[in-house]
Amino acid sequence: TLLLAVSFLATMLTLSSSQVAPLSLTTTTCPLPPELSPVLLTDQTSKLIASTDYGNMVHVQPAAVANPRSVDDISLLIKSSYSCCDPYGVAARGNGHCTKGQAMVRNGVVLNMRSLSNNVGNAGSSNNVVVSPDRTFADVSGGALWIEVLNETLKLGVAPVTWTDLLYLTVGGALSNAGIGGQTFRFGPQIANVHELDVVTGKGEIVTCSANKSSELFYAVLGGLGQFGVITRARIALAPAPQRVKWMRLLYSDFTTFSNDQEKIIANYSQPDSVDYIEGQVLLDNGTPNLWETSFFPTEVVPTITSLVKEKGVVYALEVAIYYNSTNEEIKDQQMKQLIRQLKNERGLAAMKDVTYYKFLDRIPVPDPSIPHSHPWLNLFVPKSGVSKFNDGVVRDIIMRTNITVGPVLFYPMNRNKWDDKMSVVIPDEEIFYAFSLLSQSNVDDWPKYLDQNAAVLAHCEEAGIEVKQYLAGHSTQQDWIKHFGPKWAGFQQMKAQFDPKFILSPGQKIFN
Ligand code: FAD
Repeated sequence: TLLLAVSFLATMLTLSSSQVAPLSLTTTTCPLPPELSPVLLTDQTSKLIASTDYGNMVHVQPAAVANPRSVDDISLLIKSSYSCCDPYGVAARGNGHCTKGQAMVRNGVVLNMRSLSNNVGNAGSSNNVVVSPDRTFADVSGGALWIEVLNETLKLGVAPVTWTDLLYLTVGGALSNAGIGGQTFRFGPQIANVHELDVVTGKGEIVTCSANKSSELFYAVLGGLGQFGVITRARIALAPAPQRVKWMRLLYSDFTTFSNDQEKIIANYSQPDSVDYIEGQVLLDNGTPNLWETSFFPTEVVPTITSLVKEKGVVYALEVAIYYNSTNEEIKDQQMKQLIRQLKNERGLAAMKDVTYYKFLDRIPVPDPSIPHSHPWLNLFVPKSGVSKFNDGVVRDIIMRTNITVGPVLFYPMNRNKWDDKMSVVIPDEEIFYAFSLLSQSNVDDWPKYLDQNAAVLAHCEEAGIEVKQYLAGHSTQQDWIKHFGPKWAGFQQMKAQFDPKFILSPGQKIFN
């Protein structure tokens, strides 16, 4: 599918540790600690890998790549920079799935967080996911992938409650943003489901923090874009895992009907009969068969969908899921039937699948590394008050008129009360807001026109007074970041002065550097 046909080199993720760097390494300004020589790579291949991300638009080379063996290695590296009069930058790199160079650093050191396993298990254990005896939480390495968390926790019949769409992201990378998906309306983002963190600050100090202990650091780091510390361990909340999932998509040709139904569903979030997952997609008539959109439906319905999209120019797909076990299948079946009766989708244009919980969560396969593409993505949080205007001006005008969008377009609501305002992440100041994701895919030399489209969307929102906030933002000036953070900027800046006063961490975010 289009989403899968991506250019990111998944095979790049495990950086070769066989290439041992010589002693007396330096960045442009400072020597690197000789004790770390065995884990520092300076060969061109390693540096090229670290200067590429999923976006494939920004390429910035580090002086070296570190494959930390332990939290102490990370602390030593950062302390060494901190003690230098002209410190070098250190960028944690999770799985490199950001799109605007946020995990890169010019002439500094990229920390390959995937090499940091075995830091939460017992000595000698190779685990980077350890479930508590009472199965209510797991201690997870910051470099673990969410798919690894799922694999390990499911063995004990438990799992985290809230997920991203793709599970091949690292725990530390997702928690530095928010970690959103179809469960967010009910359980909040992944950052709202963390009990405790181990963090290496920009001074190289190793700190355990939580809501009760070093809480300033805890809240700053969650959604903190890597600015205050490197997350080396996260304690993630778990709940009993369901066995199976009833998974539906229903089509709408009218936006108001679609969003009303979505909002009706999320209003029920605290009730026992709440659905467990809701997202939504925008189907566009852009002349390209969007297999990912139609493959959910039986083949005999696809021509009807295609002609409806052609006729209307845009169609909306509401996606819901209800989890169940062998013990409650009948009740959940009734619940799904009742829900279907209430929804006002185009009659006949709905399809259902019944899959295992694992298959449902791992529905998006690993990006294909063999086809080079760029991903000039735009992710926005749109306040409910402006969502209809946004649909008219952005979806039904800019995007349809430009007619270049190839790739999924997601559009679904969430409840603000499931987010914690003390955390660094910025969201609209309304009880309900929508995640809108324009997940464009372009040829490697063709992305500027998509960035122009993104800029047109943002300009329209500004003119129309729709107070959107960017998610996974790629602002390039501090002025833009100050505007992004709004009233939170002063606190964000203060936390930076406290925990990374020499501006060492994640300079690729371009907030302070
Ligand atoms: P990276 O991209 O490597 O790093 C991102 C930032 O975090 C960088 O600034 C980096 O320096 C910093 N960082 C990384 N690790 C750490 C750490 N341990 N401690 C401190 N800072 C760190 N996001 C969602 O919320 N929901 C989705 O459904 C979703 N789906 C996606 C699907 C695809 C196909 C892709 C490519 C991305 C998706 N994302 C989604 C975005 C994803 O959350 C971000 O890319 C995020 O950056 C995590 O990716 P990563 O682990 O590769 O981190």
